[in-house]
Amino acid sequence: MTGERAKRFPLGLEDLVREPRRSEVRSGDARVTKVAAVESRASGASGVAGPQGARAAAAGKRNDAARQPALRLPATLERAGAPNVPLNRAHALTSERVRERMVERLRANGVADPRVLNAMATVPRHMFVDPGLATQAYEDAALPIGHHQTISKPSVVARMIELAAAGRELNSVLEIGTGCGYQAAVLSQVARDVYSIERVRPLYERAKTNLRPLRIPNIRLHYGDGRIGLPAAAPFDAIVIAAAGLDVPQALLEQLAIGARLVAPVGTQDGQTQVLTLVERTGPTQWRESRLDRVFFVPLKSGVI
Ligand code: SAH
Repeated sequence: MTGERAKRFPLGLEDLVREPRRSEVRSGDARVTKVAAVESRASGASGVAGPQGARAAAAGKRNDAARQPALRLPATLERAGAPNVPLNRAHALTSERVRERMVERLRANGVADPRVLNAMATVPRHMFVDPGLATQAYEDAALPIGHHQTISKPSVVARMIELAAAGRELNSVLEIGTGCGYQAAVLSQVARDVYSIERVRPLYERAKTNLRPLRIPNIRLHYGDGRIGLPAAAPFDAIVIAAAGLDVPQALLEQLAIGARLVAPVGTQDGQTQVLTLVERTGPTQWRESRLDRVFFVPLKSGVI
């Protein structure tokens, strides 16, 4: 990794590579313990994605991506563990190999952008869920994060980011629905600047807590109604909405740069169906919409709580 890139993407490398101290090993890894301190979650909406649909749109140009240096992945705690220190299940979960297997499944399911795959291999998803759910962190499942919300499935996160990027260099990206902060962390590995908005204050606070040990410098979290977007930081190269509305808010369409892309689940009036929708801004007053996969997300709501 170049020095410049290391400055931009120092995602928890020091944290994750260092050897656990003996006290930490006895009581479980410090970061896992930290996550344990968060309040217990109600089991909320399931947020599962339906069948994967057409992949065509994301297949575009990959040249820029191919030129990017591979991210240095964190060493596994299994590898970092001191000799003779028994490693518990939580340690095993933090392993790079577990994430690598997840990434192999993503690749098999059609995710092809190497930057997205690297990001998915790098971000420790187990640090964004309740410790009681950590054993499921690398399964392709949405999991409850409290407040009737969920962390999105890895396959959906990867799919949305790949669609939003379409092989382009991303300078500025906006996420609506920070939740626990996982997708923002993945985006931080793909884009230069990530802005993310959450309307539920305790989740906004939790995302901050989850992200703090990873020391990611290029994420800015905002508490507010994401339907309004972030006009002060616009225009964005990509906008990813992690909750389903009945439409895509006009304010967000206006905050796309020309040529930029927005990816969002959009629900039908009867509330029965949601379709992952890609919107490309083709001109000052022109947008092109494609309807892709069937998905299921928690609702996009107005106002803040
Ligand atoms: N990005 C998350 C997914 C969180 S679930 C991940 O990494 O897995 C979707 C989130 O969208 C919820 O936390 C919900 O509170 C939030 N949300 C819903 N409507 C919103 C709105 N109008 N503005 C901002 N956040 C919203």
